[in-house]
Amino acid sequence: MIEWNEASCQLAEGVRAGYTTRFGGASTGAYSSANMATHVGDAEAYVRENRRQLHQVTGLDDVRFLTQTHGANVVRISSPVDQINNQGPLPVADAQWTDVIGIGLAILTADCVPVVIADPDGHGVGIAHCGWRGAASGVLESLVAAMECRSKRLNAWLGPGICKRCYEVGPDVLERLDVRISKRVIEAVPKQERWWLDLPRYLEMLLQQLGVQRIFRSTNCTYEDQNLYSYRRDKVTGRVATLVWRETR
Ligand SMILES: [Zn+2]
Repeated sequence: MIEWNEASCQLAEGVRAGYTTRFGGASTGAYSSANMATHVGDAEAYVRENRRQLHQVTGLDDVRFLTQTHGANVVRISSPVDQINNQGPLPVADAQWTDVIGIGLAILTADCVPVVIADPDGHGVGIAHCGWRGAASGVLESLVAAMECRSKRLNAWLGPGICKRCYEVGPDVLERLDVRISKRVIEAVPKQERWWLDLPRYLEMLLQQLGVQRIFRSTNCTYEDQNLYSYRRDKVTGRVATLVWRETR
C-alpha cells in the first residue's frame, strides 16, 4: 500500500489534505515506487495501480488530476464524475477548486510546491501547482480570486517542495517574480550571478498579500528527502500527489 501523510494542521472543519511519498505502489527503477504521474515515462499500468492504492488509502472514489503546464488556469469542479463513462481529457490547468463533498483534488509535484486553500465559511477547497513559473504567471492570485467569490476568509497549507538551500536560480527567474517579495526571500550565491530562492516563503508572503489568514507549511524539502521525488535531484523521476477534499460540512 502507498504511504499517505496527512497534513498536520487544521485548515477548516471537515477538510482533509495530505500527500503521498515514494513508498508503496508498483513502479520500478527511477519511478520507484509510488509515482502518481502518467506524463513522466512510467508504465501506465503501474501508475494505474498506484492511483488505485491512492483511492484505497484516502477512501476517495473520485480523485481529479489536471494537465499541469506551469500556467495560471483554474478550473471549478462542480459535480462528481461518472468514473465509468467519463474518460475525457483532463482540464489543462494548474489549479482547481470545488465545494462538492467527497471529490479529491490532486496536484502532482517533484520540487514545485502544492498549495492547498480551504474556506472555513463557504465550504470550498482548492489546490494549486506552484513552481516559480506558476507563481510568476499568477496561479495563486487566480485561485484565491475564484474562491473569494464564496468567502473572504481563506486558510492555506503548503505541502512539501524544494527549500532555499537546494534551489539556486538565475536572473531569468528573478526578473519574472514580484521584486517586493523576492528581494526578501533570496540570498546571493558568492561571486556569481546566482541566488538561492526560498520558494515556499515567497508563496507564503504572496498568500499573505492576497489576504489569506492562516498559513501552515510542511517542513519537508523534496530535494533533501529521499522519500520524495525531486526533479532537480534526479531529472528522470516520478511525482507525488498532494490532495485536498471536503469530507463533511
Ligand atoms: Zn532542501
